[in-house]
Amino acid sequence: MTTLVWFRHDLRTLDNTALTEAAKAGEVRGVYLLCPEQLDEHVIAPIRRHYLRRVLDDLAAQMAALGIPFDIVEAGHFRKVPERLASYCDQHGIERVIAHREWLVDEQRRDQACEAALPVPLTLVEDNLLGATQVMKGDGDPYKVFTPFSRQARQHIANDFPVCRRRPKAQGKAYVPETCPVFGEEVSSASWPAAEEAVLSQLRRFCAERADDYKAERDFPALDSTSRLSAALALGVISARQCLSRLRAECGDSIWDAKSGPGSWMNELLWREFYRYIAHHYPRVVMGRAFQAETEALNWGNDQALFEAWQQGQTGYPVVDAAMRQLAQTGWMHNRLRMIAASFLCKHLHIDWRWGERHFLEQLIDADFASNNGGWQWAASTGTDAAPYFRIFNPTTQAQKFDPDGRFIIHYVPELSGLSGKALYQPAAMDNYPPPIVEHRWARETTLALFQALK
Ligand SMILES: Cc1cc2nc3c(=O)[nH]c(=O)nc-3n(C[C@H](O)[C@H](O)[C@H](O)COP(=O)(O)OP(=O)(O)OC[C@H]3O[C@@H](n4cnc5c(N)ncnc54)[C@H](O)[C@@H]3O)c2cc1C
Repeated sequence: MTTLVWFRHDLRTLDNTALTEAAKAGEVRGVYLLCPEQLDEHVIAPIRRHYLRRVLDDLAAQMAALGIPFDIVEAGHFRKVPERLASYCDQHGIERVIAHREWLVDEQRRDQACEAALPVPLTLVEDNLLGATQVMKGDGDPYKVFTPFSRQARQHIANDFPVCRRRPKAQGKAYVPETCPVFGEEVSSASWPAAEEAVLSQLRRFCAERADDYKAERDFPALDSTSRLSAALALGVISARQCLSRLRAECGDSIWDAKSGPGSWMNELLWREFYRYIAHHYPRVVMGRAFQAETEALNWGNDQALFEAWQQGQTGYPVVDAAMRQLAQTGWMHNRLRMIAASFLCKHLHIDWRWGERHFLEQLIDADFASNNGGWQWAASTGTDAAPYFRIFNPTTQAQKFDPDGRFIIHYVPELSGLSGKALYQPAAMDNYPPPIVEHRWARETTLALFQALK
């Protein structure tokens, strides 16, 4: 029996459920279907494309070392995938296809189309998540709010702790892998580990050295205190299961205490799970709709010039500008800054959260549709577990609190070096730095009025 493992967002050989299951049944082949037109349609950032290519090269090398044939096939458009996969199965005498279950609506529709088009069965296995997508409220409905979801999810995980799968044994002689087709050359992702072993070392280091201090330090962008595993998690170079298992191995039972560093990191993995759960149970959120239907009537100003100033880090609010320049220069932004920058776009500039959501997808190395959508709808107060609309971040006090010595701001906004205290957080007019693009008090009152108009 030859089973084809269809890799999607599980680009690893260790703890890969589909690969392990396939190896139990006999001969294995692997395939990745590359859809450049879909990368364009989904506005995937250049840095993310480059990272994907490096990850695929590493996966190809690992499959070659295991002696398992592996192909990267150009499939064109997403819609051509069923046809392309069916012809690949015919060509290689495949008797079964196995893949991990994906949770978003487009991917589920694609899998249904594949089931209909393939000459052989398609088996979907649970992978890449912690299993909490199964939890439901007492009345059988899905949760809409994170805190009760996470309580149940922790319980579920404690009762049935996720177990990592072994890497399959070598199937044949090692061979020299083919290199991945060239794409995503414009922006280098070289500073992000792409090889599975390197990412696992990064995880081990974080759990051993940083997890204990995570809760106390995670909100300070000048510190290197978060794991920076989001890009690897988004493509499945490691799984959430591996993250949790390693965390427990290093930190023991403290993972169950949400007030501890390790417990607080586990909570973030649950946020990731929650946003997939929401996208699955309420697919309208990934079809450009607000979760809170009434907020569709919000009268966003959508001023193009303000939007461009935000994109370019020229708003006159130092922490917002530093955040947006970090994104443009590195393809990544610290979580606290994502919250501040997103809130600023929606609640200071009164620009539709969908504009910001798209801009982040176009720039982020870790772009993840569900987490990005969840983060944006949270910030705009349109989502499930929405920040109440009257919670409007003050970018100046946020900066004073989370960048108290201004180190992060000055790194990305060097025009302000030499300033400190109030002068740094609220700089007076300068030749090379703009004055605030909007006045905070006015912005706050306007936002309150916009939301009150919905009542
Ligand atoms: C407006 C906005 C947009 C966002 N867009 C994305 C996105 O496209 N892709 C993405 O992976 N995350 C997104 N996030 C969540 C979060 O900012 C990043 O996951 C985090 O900054 C990644 O850094 P890290 O790996 O060091 O995280 P850590 O703090 O080390 O957390 C570990 C992992 O948990 C997950 N995680 C952490 N925080 C969150 C969160 N709030 N929501 C969901 N998952 C989380 C990530 O997979 C992360 O790698 C967004 C948040 C906001 C507010």
